[in-house]
Amino acid sequence: MTEAISVDVCVVGAGPVGGTLACVVASAGISTILVDRAALLPMEHPAFDGRAYAIASGSRALLREAGLWEMLPDPPNPILDIRVTDGWVGRPASRLHLHFDHREAGDAPFGWMVEARSLRRALNARVRALPDLQVFAPAEAFVDRTADGVLVRVAGGPSAACRLVIAAEGRSSPLREAAGIPVTRFDYPQTGIVCAISHELPHLGVALEHFLPSGPFAVLPMAPSADAEAGGAQNVSAVVWTERTRIAATMLGLDDTRFAREIRRRLGGHLGAVHTVGRRWNYPLSAMLAHRYVDTRLALAGDAAHGIHPIAGQGLNLGFRDAIALAGLLIEAKQAGEDVGSPALLARYQRARRPDNLAMLAMTDGLDRLFSSNNPLLRLARDLGIAAVDQARPVKRVFMRQAMGV
Ligand SMILES: Cc1cc2nc3c(=O)[nH]c(=O)nc-3n(C[C@H](O)[C@H](O)[C@H](O)COP(=O)(O)OP(=O)(O)OC[C@H]3O[C@@H](n4cnc5c(N)ncnc54)[C@H](O)[C@@H]3O)c2cc1C
Repeated sequence: MTEAISVDVCVVGAGPVGGTLACVVASAGISTILVDRAALLPMEHPAFDGRAYAIASGSRALLREAGLWEMLPDPPNPILDIRVTDGWVGRPASRLHLHFDHREAGDAPFGWMVEARSLRRALNARVRALPDLQVFAPAEAFVDRTADGVLVRVAGGPSAACRLVIAAEGRSSPLREAAGIPVTRFDYPQTGIVCAISHELPHLGVALEHFLPSGPFAVLPMAPSADAEAGGAQNVSAVVWTERTRIAATMLGLDDTRFAREIRRRLGGHLGAVHTVGRRWNYPLSAMLAHRYVDTRLALAGDAAHGIHPIAGQGLNLGFRDAIALAGLLIEAKQAGEDVGSPALLARYQRARRPDNLAMLAMTDGLDRLFSSNNPLLRLARDLGIAAVDQARPVKRVFMRQAMGV
């Protein structure tokens, strides 16, 4: 039997949160192993896949620190304005709308649209370039935690003795379950349909959040695509379409022409003719919160700790905020020569992150309930509310800072 290697931290799950966290801490000299049960290579499949993240400014700073932002192969597209409208399918949006212009809050954009594929490719390259980071994928990690330390046996690889294991395995986290950490979970009767569209007229950096009775319909501005599958389109946007699950199944079964027509019925005519590009994706929507974020020498991060409604496009940004908090504590402890898996450090991490994530979960859930209601009084009240916020500059600035993640 080979002797166990000794590292500071093991991150299980090389998704956007686990991968980025591993890059940040390894860049700061914290020796790390990163294990994912899926291979990293197929994720680099070059086909245009149509999924994208809205990255807030705090998340961009994290990606910079991780050395990932500059490695993104496709340019991120700035979100300059956000337009919030209310309406019905097939009818023009209510005239009472909310328009956020980034210049009202400073020079910086609200965020940047980054293609999921672009982030994946940057991560795959960066994790292999850092001397303090060893990657095992595809591989399974068997984790044995005690108060004194963690032993991770990587199937087909080495065993590693470390101080802390970070579960970043997504929503059905086996490490969270093995630790017996309960979760509160509820399903929405909605499905998220995600795809990209090319359109006749430029988006001018405007993100649209159009509230419809079945759920929000978001259109987010992407950079021009050099991709052959996207037809080298100049005007490209990402669509995150929340729909009642029954109707979503019908929509997903439509051919491309009819599917694009349904998008146009929800979007309106301001982008001209619309065509879908790349694949259509769909996700059953649910919200989830782990009752604890920590256990003996274990910390949960990203979707392993929480899941929210995509109404505000903040799911990954919350995970990145976990990564910022945890990386900060780990780097501080390492520099002070302290144990990076101590109960005190883990308690600080939980205090820093759980209330913030709970607040975002409650806010996104409340927004979905408010805007998916057909009650005529509620519709009138929210339209008036939208118009009132549009006129109230200080309130608008609060919303804008939230959207920017600052
Ligand atoms: C419809 C929809 C739209 C969204 N839009 C946005 C948006 O615009 N902006 C935004 O910020 N967020 C958005 N989100 C949320 C975002 O996609 C997630 O929050 C994000 O993917 C979570 O990243 P993660 O790294 O925590 O987990 P994941 O992306 O789930 O990654 C988990 C990783 O762990 C690996 N893994 C799993 N189990 C194991 C195991 N046992 N051992 C080893 N490895 C394992 C997996 O292979 C994977 O690589 C959206 C979500 C939905 C559903």
